[in-house]
Amino acid sequence: MSEQELRRKIVAVGKKAFDYKLLSGTWGNISARFGKGRMLITPSGFEKAALKPSDIILMDLEGNILKGKWKPSSEMPMHSLIYKTREDVNAIIHTHSYYAIALAVAGQEIPVLTSEFASAVGHNVPVTRYVTSGTREFAEEVVRTLGEGKAVLLRNHGVVAVGDSLEDAFQTALLVEDEARTFILASSLGYAKPLDLNEVKKLREAYLKSYGQEKRRLNLRL
Ligand SMILES: [Zn+2]
Repeated sequence: MSEQELRRKIVAVGKKAFDYKLLSGTWGNISARFGKGRMLITPSGFEKAALKPSDIILMDLEGNILKGKWKPSSEMPMHSLIYKTREDVNAIIHTHSYYAIALAVAGQEIPVLTSEFASAVGHNVPVTRYVTSGTREFAEEVVRTLGEGKAVLLRNHGVVAVGDSLEDAFQTALLVEDEARTFILASSLGYAKPLDLNEVKKLREAYLKSYGQEKRRLNLRL
């Protein structure tokens, strides 16, 4: 994919995330891996719904700006450490979506409750311990808690979703918010019963085998 196309897609994800209420104001950030040891990332302090492709910053994973006129997101160290440690990750979205953030404040992980979440994500979403964002320690805590997973809750802060494409990461961020809402609503009814772990494994394996990347790309037009 060309640099220009990737810039356009990051802008499209910013708009979509805003439309779906995953982001508000200038919060959150989005990045995509671009070639070996480089990434494209949103600038700091910009409303994500109003970005232009030329606002996106090209950086290496050591923190050097290669192209761009703005300051990169303050969460840049977290993005670069995820790309360095997870070769399968090509895109990262950090959101502050309402229901997920409520659970992040409560320190409550999101269990797998629905068959769709089991298929498309396939694991509980754990919570990091609280660390000041933007620091090296914060980046390490996110990477450690995320492990091989697709999403993590940041204690008293928000959500990080990763994927092999921007479409994949966006879909995960959206599903995390849906599952968080389902968990809170079902809990308010008295009992939110998680799916059996063997069933989660079965659904996830079937999803990867039958649909894989193709379905996820088709589901979302950026
Ligand atoms: Zn944040």
